[in-house]
Amino acid sequence: MPKAIYPGSFDPITYGHLDIIERAEKIFDDLIVGVVENPRKETLFSPQTRKELVEEATSEEGINVSRVITFSGLLVNCAKKYNRKSIVRGLRANSDFEYEFQMALTNRDLAPEIESVFLMTSGEYSFLSSSIVKEVKGLGGDVSSFVPQVVERRLVEKFDLK
Ligand code: ADP
Repeated sequence: MPKAIYPGSFDPITYGHLDIIERAEKIFDDLIVGVVENPRKETLFSPQTRKELVEEATSEEGINVSRVITFSGLLVNCAKKYNRKSIVRGLRANSDFEYEFQMALTNRDLAPEIESVFLMTSGEYSFLSSSIVKEVKGLGGDVSSFVPQVVERRLVEKFDLK
């Protein structure tokens, strides 16, 4: 069974991401979650905190991942470095499709031996994004049905709520 990497910003990780990780774990023997460090993209949490939250959230939910890493630069170079032949991505409504399609074709051009694999979102998470979570929590709302407790706690600290 090929080894895979699931890359993303995870700013922060949500139940939508966790659902993809849990399902990808059943397909691949060995799954790395790759937290992107992109200095051009503004994030709420640092790469290190986003990585810790992926580790803590997967452990809180009892989901087994081989390893969580941070990486910068081209995804295909990271995939090669860790000997991954598959890139896992999640697909929500058609809003994800154009971007994912473009990225998958670009990555195939850069590294034809690496395949992008798309897992369809579960209906209950089809509307869920890290941006929505940040918006709701930033306004003091309850996000407990969107993210695990460890993540909600970190959001409360970050937004200086309570
Ligand atoms: P990126 O900046 O790389 O898009 P994200 O953390 O936003 O990083 O998303 C990482 C991957 O997880 C993407 O493939 C995205 O489509 C997928 N994803 C995010 N939220 C969900 C969700 N609720 N259901 C399914 N897939 C999701």
